[in-house]
Amino acid sequence: MNPPEAQLRNILELERRKGYADKAVIGGIDRYLKHLVEGGSLAPNSPVMRSIMALPSHGYASLSLEQRQRWLAETLALLSQPVTAPPKRSPAAAPAAPPASPETKTARAPGRPPADRPARQEGLSAPITVLRGVSRALATKFAHLGVETIRDLLYFFPRRHNDFAHIRPISELVVGEEQTVIGTVWSASETTMGRRLKGTEALVGDDTGVMRVVWFNQPYLARQLQTNTQVVLAGRVNLFKGQKTLENPEYEPLESEDLLHTGRLVPIYPSTAGLAARTARRVAREALDGYVDLLPELLPPGLLVRNSLLALTTAIREMHYPDSWDDLRTARRRLAFDELLLIQLGVLSRKREWQERGLAQPLPLPPEVQEGYVDSLPFTLTTAQKRALGQVLNDVAQERPMSRLLQGDVGSGKTVVAAACLLAAKSAGCQGTMMAPTEILAEQHYQTLCRILSGREQAGPSITLAVPYLAQPLRIALLTGSLPAPEKRTVREAVAEGEVDILVGTHAVIQEGVNLPRLGVAIVDEQHRFGVMQRAALRGKGRNPHLLVMTATPIPRTLALTLYGDLDISVIDEMPPGRKPIETRWVAPEERERAYEFLREQVRQGRQAFIICPLIEESETLVTRAAVQEFERLSGEVFPELRLGLLHGRLGSQKKERVMRDFRDGRLDILVSTAVVEVGVDIPNATVMMVEGAERFGLAQLHQLRGRVGRSDVQSYCLLLSDSASGEARERLQLVERNQDGFALAEADLRLRGPGEFFGTRQSGLPDLKVAQLSDVPLIELARAEAARLLESDPDLTRPEHAALAQEVARLWERVTAEAH
Ligand code: ADP
Ligand code: MG
Repeated sequence: MNPPEAQLRNILELERRKGYADKAVIGGIDRYLKHLVEGGSLAPNSPVMRSIMALPSHGYASLSLEQRQRWLAETLALLSQPVTAPPKRSPAAAPAAPPASPETKTARAPGRPPADRPARQEGLSAPITVLRGVSRALATKFAHLGVETIRDLLYFFPRRHNDFAHIRPISELVVGEEQTVIGTVWSASETTMGRRLKGTEALVGDDTGVMRVVWFNQPYLARQLQTNTQVVLAGRVNLFKGQKTLENPEYEPLESEDLLHTGRLVPIYPSTAGLAARTARRVAREALDGYVDLLPELLPPGLLVRNSLLALTTAIREMHYPDSWDDLRTARRRLAFDELLLIQLGVLSRKREWQERGLAQPLPLPPEVQEGYVDSLPFTLTTAQKRALGQVLNDVAQERPMSRLLQGDVGSGKTVVAAACLLAAKSAGCQGTMMAPTEILAEQHYQTLCRILSGREQAGPSITLAVPYLAQPLRIALLTGSLPAPEKRTVREAVAEGEVDILVGTHAVIQEGVNLPRLGVAIVDEQHRFGVMQRAALRGKGRNPHLLVMTATPIPRTLALTLYGDLDISVIDEMPPGRKPIETRWVAPEERERAYEFLREQVRQGRQAFIICPLIEESETLVTRAAVQEFERLSGEVFPELRLGLLHGRLGSQKKERVMRDFRDGRLDILVSTAVVEVGVDIPNATVMMVEGAERFGLAQLHQLRGRVGRSDVQSYCLLLSDSASGEARERLQLVERNQDGFALAEADLRLRGPGEFFGTRQSGLPDLKVAQLSDVPLIELARAEAARLLESDPDLTRPEHAALAQEVARLWERVTAEAH
């Protein structure tokens, strides 16, 4: 590295250590870069030079924190590459153009083409049209599957493989095993199975015999399976009335006899309309043959050896054309590891950055205040609360900013723990803030805090309390969007003057430029949508407060390690004593009327009820329409004598708040709602939660819904209505009937439905996983340990041997950021 580059590198490193505040050189980074560029000491077309030129016109100073982090990481990665030596590695190893800002990102040519390989000039980032026989039209079809570049194609994995190495003649099929059969369709027709289910039944024969093949639920297959065509079927053989039957097999038309002679596992790719399986296979093969060797190895050799992981290029090859099922498994393991490692590197380095960016103000809670507080509570803390309290108070007493997730079922008593943090801030002369996703929740927190700290509720948006165990009065304020403007101004000013000790409000309001000059601790409540990115943004604001995120969503450990991987975790896994379990009942379709009658009876006794509309995944519009219809039916036909309100996602937030308020204040008997209703709202008078189409919900979600009742000592009920009589639906709902433990249900849910369903991938703020399973605990833990180890030796992944890895991490999180917006 030549001297100017070494200097640049030192300065950029310093800038990073100083928290991207543009403080590394006097006069600012931009002036320094200008000087450097004009001095002519950087090679005009070097990657570093291009990275500098790619900054927007107002320079580094105009970038957001995220963008600065990214630009620095990428430029430093470039600086760690040998620049003058001719590239030994493939163009893929050369860094792509620096995407410093969205504008500059688009049309830049990647890497430096090695002169000796003109055919591969564009390398891995080239569009797939560089492949022989890939027209624009074909490329468009691939684009529908998310495949645009050669690299995408290499990572475009088969959905499954057909085992042509072990074709079984029909006469030799073994009951209970997965097998592949090739046969001719004799007949295929639509059938009715059971009472309502439509399916397809076919007869397929080969030289040795004929067998019955059935597909439940797929009547359209009858039309696709044409008589006398040859098909490949793969699936499990069962006995049906003494006959061997293939049930729900994967099926493709047999394209060519050639496949038979390849004698191996043949990849079957995901397909889209108009893209034949054969074409997908040919194109993928072409990419594999011509380009797989260009892929740089991401992982250091030591790591590979230590964990018996395949080399990347081998793994990619084996993913497509494995020699055996075992080879496929090892390939999957390697690629799953990569995905998990990138996630862990992302979340762990975020944690580091946040903790090292600057120190926080230590907020030790004086023992006498802690004692006074705990003694003043009208109840004794549960063991789990005590443990969480200890962890949290220990965290805030440190200079390292706290970064903790407090998990606990609805009603487990998280607020008392959070309040202790706020007291710690006050005792150290700092401010604290508590944020909720909706106004009504913010109000609720405000009231709860007033009650916990002074024993009474409060009407106005601000109050000064004389708390016996505090030397000075404590001022709490509430800030929400619907507060009248003058009051809002008063609160803002008091906060900015440092007169307010505790500010409670909605995320939106507090993040929009409230000036908290002495912010010591920030608490974020009830936000499963408050992902890694949002946390990073919050931390980017202002000082370096301690951060506590609270959630009532029971999150299985594996998910917590990824989704909240940048946080330490405390769990309150115990309910305060004396809570009545919520009586939960699965209601058969014919019992619907009785369920309505039950609900009426509860209202007669002065209680309130929720009715949740079925989940419709297709679109928000459909959900809304269904909810409106259901509301009309319920209020017109079923409960004409009662007061019903409707809540759905399409309502403006003000309307939503109004309906919630009407319900809270007893002006409505029944709240009909889609599943968008925020969790955590305390309506002690509500005793019935009725869920329509319950089988469509996740177990954890049902548990969450159920948590909205049972907030008082009156017996509460959860009625799960389901039209599906299927055994599976029944079984899942029975788990909820029998189980009051949110964590157990969440684990079961994750097992039964996978993480995408569990959270909704869009919401999770996690990159999509193609290969890895979030239920693979050992691999997740391995990836986390290896990520920690890597970051320990090379905190910013700036070493040359980590350049490719650093680039992948940046690429992945950039995509996540883009999707989060
Ligand atoms: P969540 O974890 O859902 O936020 P809260 O903090 O709102 O729960 O507590 C729910 C209710 O339980 C509150 O009314 C609170 O005062 C009460 N509570 C909290 N801890 C205990 C305890 N150890 N014993 C009895 N009641 C408690
Ligand atoms: Mg709460």
